[in-house]
Amino acid sequence: MNYSEKYEMTVGLETHIELKTQSKIFCGCSTKFGDAPNTNICPVCTGMPGTLPTLNRAALDYAILAGLATNCKIASLTKFDRKNYFYPDLPKAYQISQYDMPLCTDGYIDVETDGEISRIGIERIHLEEDAGKLVHEKDCTGIDYNRCGVPLIEVVSRPDIKSAEQARGYLQKLRCIMLYLGISDCKMNEGSLRCDVNISVRKKGSTALGERCEIKNMNSFSFIVKAIQYEFDRQCELYERGGTVLPETRRYDQATGRTELMRTKEQANDYRYFPEPDIPPLEISIEHVSRLKEGLPILPDERKSSYIALGIKSSSAEMIASSKYISDYFQAVIERCSDCEGVANLLTGEVFRMLQGDDDEIRLSPDQLICIAQMANEGIINRSTEKKLVSLLWGTDTDPRKYVTDNSLVQINDIDTLKGICEKAIMQSQKAVSDLRGGKLTAYKAILGKAMGLSHGNANPVLLDQCMKDLLGTDDI
Ligand SMILES: [Zn+2]
Repeated sequence: MNYSEKYEMTVGLETHIELKTQSKIFCGCSTKFGDAPNTNICPVCTGMPGTLPTLNRAALDYAILAGLATNCKIASLTKFDRKNYFYPDLPKAYQISQYDMPLCTDGYIDVETDGEISRIGIERIHLEEDAGKLVHEKDCTGIDYNRCGVPLIEVVSRPDIKSAEQARGYLQKLRCIMLYLGISDCKMNEGSLRCDVNISVRKKGSTALGERCEIKNMNSFSFIVKAIQYEFDRQCELYERGGTVLPETRRYDQATGRTELMRTKEQANDYRYFPEPDIPPLEISIEHVSRLKEGLPILPDERKSSYIALGIKSSSAEMIASSKYISDYFQAVIERCSDCEGVANLLTGEVFRMLQGDDDEIRLSPDQLICIAQMANEGIINRSTEKKLVSLLWGTDTDPRKYVTDNSLVQINDIDTLKGICEKAIMQSQKAVSDLRGGKLTAYKAILGKAMGLSHGNANPVLLDQCMKDLLGTDDI
C-alpha cells in the first residue's frame, strides 16, 4: 500500500566521516587503511594504563573546516567528554567524544532534488575517535585495533529531511563538500563514511513528531534509501493497525531488504557522559578560525554558480559541480576554451554514459573533448558523430580532427551531394514512397533513414531533411 498520501516521514541523519590525517587523533599511530591487523597500534590507542591522549591539531583543523564549509558556527570554547560503554572493539570501555560543547553548531547545506532546492539544517558537528573492528572468521572472531583512534567527525542533521531521495541528496552533497575540502576519502565501502538514520512517521497535518527509530551503520547510498522506504512503510503499517512505534535501534538487512530490531533505544544518559579529564578544554581563537576560512577551497555551490554564469544550464552545472573530480576536469576545459556549453553537454551526456561507477576516470583529455565539441559547433561533424567520437576515442590519445578525416566522418553539407543521396534513397524505397503517397506519413522516416544510411551517417540532418522534402514535395510533414 502507498502510505505517502496519509502519512509523512521526518528523517534526521547522523553521519560519521573519518578524517584523513596522517596520524590518529590522540596518538602518533598511522591511520592507513588496509594494513595488516593490529600493526598501527600503541599503548595510547589500545587504552593501556598510565597513557595519556594528545590531541592531533590537524584533526581539529579538519573538523573546523568541515564546520565552516557547512555554514556552522565554530565554538570559541569546546571540550571533550567520555562516552562510556563496553564493546570488544573499544578497549578503553569509553570513547572520547564531545557531548554538550560540540565544536560546530547551527549550520546548513542546500540540497537539490528534482530541480528543487531545500535547506537541510545541521545541528552540530563534533570530533571523536573511531573504534576498532571485529573480524569474523570461520570459527573465531578477531579484533583489529588499527582503526581505534582514527579521527572522526559526526555530522548531525536537523530532522528536516522529508523523503528518502532527499536523504540521498543530503548525503551526496555532504560527501561532495568533504571531498572538495580534501579532509576525508568518504569511501563508503571502506567505512570512512557511515550513516545512522533517525526516522519517524506522523499523519499529514499533525504537528507532533512520531516516535522515532534509529537504523544503524549503513554504508551505501542505495541501502540507506531502501532502509528509509522500508522503515516508513513499517511504521505506517503499525499505525494503521492501531499499534504504536517503539523507540528502537534497528539494523538494515541487505539480503532481505528489511530492518530488524537490535535493541530498544538507548538514551544519552545511559552513556554516563562526563568531561574527559586528560584533555583540557580548548579555546579556539577567532584569528585561527579566520585563517582557516581564508584557506577554504572553492566549494560545489560556488562552482555551480560560476558554470551557470558561463551560460551552462542549471541541471548540467549541478551534475558537474557535484563531483570534485568532474568539476576539476571541467575547470581545465574552461581554462582552454571560450565556449564551454557544448563541452558541458557532451560531458554530462556521452561522457557520463561511458563512466563505470563513481571512481572511474574520464579517458579523454580536456583538449580532445573540446576539439570534438568544436567540430560539431563548426558543422564539420554532425551531432550523432560527435557523440560516437566520445566512445571511439575513449582511452586513446588520437587527435579527433585527424580521426574524422582519416575515417571519412566529415559532415556532408553540399546540397548537390545530399540531393543525389536522397534520389538514390527514394529509388531504393519504392514501397515506403507509395505508402507515403497513400497518406501514411510515418513512411517518411524510413526514406530519410535510408538516405542517412547511404551517407554513412555523415549527412547534415537538417539539410538532408530539407532536400528530401523538396524532392518528395512533402513540405508539410
Ligand atoms: Zn596509537
